[in-house]
Amino acid sequence: MKIHLGIDDTDSLAGGCTTEIAADLVRKLGAKGVAFLDYPNLIRLNPNVPWKTRGNGAVCLRIESELPSVEVLELAAEEIERSSRLGDPGTDPAIVLLGGAVPSDVVEFSEEALTRVVTPDAAVSLIKKVGSEALSYGSARGIVGALAAIGTPLANDYTFELIAYRSRDFIGKPRLVDRESVVQMNEEMREVTFNNVDAETGRILITPRGPDPILCGLRGESPEAVRKAFHMLRIREPVENWMIFRTNQGTDAHLMRSCRISGLQDHSAVVVEGVVKDKPRTIRGGHVIFLLEDGTGSVHCAAYEPTGRFRDIVRKLEPGDRVRGFGGMRAAGSEIPRTLNLEKLEVLKLVACMSTHNPVCPICGKRMKSAGKNQGYRCEHCRSHAASKIRKEVGRDLDERIYLPPPRAHRHLTKPEARYLRARDRISPPPQSEWHFLWGK
Ligand SMILES: [Zn+2]
Repeated sequence: MKIHLGIDDTDSLAGGCTTEIAADLVRKLGAKGVAFLDYPNLIRLNPNVPWKTRGNGAVCLRIESELPSVEVLELAAEEIERSSRLGDPGTDPAIVLLGGAVPSDVVEFSEEALTRVVTPDAAVSLIKKVGSEALSYGSARGIVGALAAIGTPLANDYTFELIAYRSRDFIGKPRLVDRESVVQMNEEMREVTFNNVDAETGRILITPRGPDPILCGLRGESPEAVRKAFHMLRIREPVENWMIFRTNQGTDAHLMRSCRISGLQDHSAVVVEGVVKDKPRTIRGGHVIFLLEDGTGSVHCAAYEPTGRFRDIVRKLEPGDRVRGFGGMRAAGSEIPRTLNLEKLEVLKLVACMSTHNPVCPICGKRMKSAGKNQGYRCEHCRSHAASKIRKEVGRDLDERIYLPPPRAHRHLTKPEARYLRARDRISPPPQSEWHFLWGK
């Protein structure tokens, strides 16, 4: 029987990691003779959900098994009880198990969970309707992600991530991954991997910074690419194990929903097209904001300080420019209005910018002066005369194209610049014969 097992929300700010629990569970299921129908799927959901402090990631295992579904559910529950941060605030792990084909209702639910805030109640009633089984600890919040992971088939664009885990004794200590080896790997593998190093700052992006058990994560186009990149690293601490996930990271899967400004909802991922209404300005904290208008209303758009030089692009916008903003809707705060937090910006049409000057004297070449109100302009030396000021088009230091913040400011889901040309080849899942299941030590 075909079984989809979704797991979510086993981690907390203090540590823990849903993918590590999935990796351990994969080994246990493998030892029971279960066949895997896909790589473990790592599904990132709406990054704008306010109570999700980290990447909002859930995992789905898709297996073919003779085991009764209750036994699979028990194995998963054991793993969660053993390893998750039960009792930490905001940790509400959940498991959802669905047999057979994934119903279209569940796929639609997942599309909602990728772009909007979905309630646990909606998840629970759908679970009852499609006859799946669910188990949750704490509040039922984790059920949303667990079900949404099941309903995301990764049928269009997708990428892979190899995640390596630390030995228990090293968790909380600095990660001993040789910097030079990361830079070198990035040089050699830049065509088939992404987000290894932030070019603007030189910051290494494959190693996270928290107390979680992840040593490093290598993102790329194929399982072979991420495995090769991993083996190019010089690592000076024990690696507990590693596993390769198939994922929607780096695909822009969340930025598919075009919205009119009047219909924008807080905490949703949106794409909005409109006209720049005022000159962008820098506010306290170094954030750059401007007002965007589309005929149904207007909304503030912000490039926050961590987006670095992306803010310089935004500052170059002029009133009248037509742009498309991609990002997340942030609810109004006490000091800040409701804002579209820009993840990327597409300049669609630049307005012509004019500058006006007093005319130049045709005889001596000096700038003329006003001859008095409505009297035109006159050269003080030659007494030559001109009727009006000169208007001249000023060149715009901006192109009609997509602009992205540097990789260090990306969401997991953000499609990096490097993938814009590659992504077109990836419109179908790999053939089943190529689904080698990869893990190692
Ligand atoms: Zn003159």
